Amino acid sequence: MSPNHSNLNNGIAGLLHNMSSKEAQYREACKTNHGYVKATATRMNDGLQETMRLLTEGENPVLTEEEMKAYLAKQKQILKDVTKENIQDSRTVDSFLHSVCKLRDDLLSNGGEDCDYASKLREYMEAHKSNPSNFLAFEHEPFYREVLTELGEELAAASGQNDDDDIQMVGGASKQTLKCPLTTVLLEEPMKNSFCGHVYSRAAVMEYINSNKRRCPVAGCRNSQLSVSQLAEDQQTALLVRRERKRLERESQKMQSQTELVDTDEED
Ligand SMILES: [Zn+2]
Repeated sequence: MSPNHSNLNNGIAGLLHNMSSKEAQYREACKTNHGYVKATATRMNDGLQETMRLLTEGENPVLTEEEMKAYLAKQKQILKDVTKENIQDSRTVDSFLHSVCKLRDDLLSNGGEDCDYASKLREYMEAHKSNPSNFLAFEHEPFYREVLTELGEELAAASGQNDDDDIQMVGGASKQTLKCPLTTVLLEEPMKNSFCGHVYSRAAVMEYINSNKRRCPVAGCRNSQLSVSQLAEDQQTALLVRRERKRLERESQKMQSQTELVDTDEED
C-alpha cells in the first residue's frame, strides 16, 4: 500500500468515525417526534374521550356511540401509524450507524482496497434493514408500547411475560447486573452484547464505542471486538430495571412519608 493510499484510508476512516459519533444528533429528532406523539396520545385518551362522551349524551346527542367509537379508533390508528413511521426512522439510523461502523472496520482491517464507499454503505444498509432479526416486532418496540399505554390499549406480553410475573433470572442475573458497567447506575435502555452477554446503557455504550474503544468495559471480559453490530435491545433486562425502579420509587415514597410524619410530630 502506498503512503498516499494509507493516508486516504485514514482520512476516510476518520470521516466515518465522525459520522458515527453524531448518533446523538440523529436520535434526537426521533426522540422529539416520539415525544409529540406520546403527548398527543395522552391528551387523546384523557381529554378527547371525555369530550366525545359529552357529545353523545343528553337528549339530542351530536354523535351516536358508534360514531364516537369509530372516530376515536380512527384517531388512535393515525397515532399508531405515525409511531411506526417514527420507529422506521429510528431503524434507518440503526442501519446507517451499523453500516458506517462496519465500513470503517473493513477499512481499518483490510486497508479497504479500491472500493466505492457510497455503494458499499448502501449495500450494508440494505442488508441490515432487510434482516428482521435486527429489529423487534412493533408491538415490542418501546416507542410503540409507550404510545399504546398512553392510548389505554392492551400491550402484547413482552416475550410471553408481564411486569408482575416472576422472571427466571438468566445466568444468575442479580441486582448488580441491573447496573451499567459504564455509568455504574441503574441501566437505561439496556443493550445486550450478543457476543459476551454483557449489558450496558444504550447512550453510555454508544459513546464508549464512538470514542473508538473496542474492549468490553466489564472487568475480566475478553471481548475486544466490541461494536454496534454486537448490540441489541435487551427487553428482559429492561423489564427487570423497570420493576427495580418502581421498587425504589415505592421505597423512597415510604421514606418520604415517614419523614413527613416526623416533621408533623415536631410541629406539635
Ligand atoms: Zn463483555
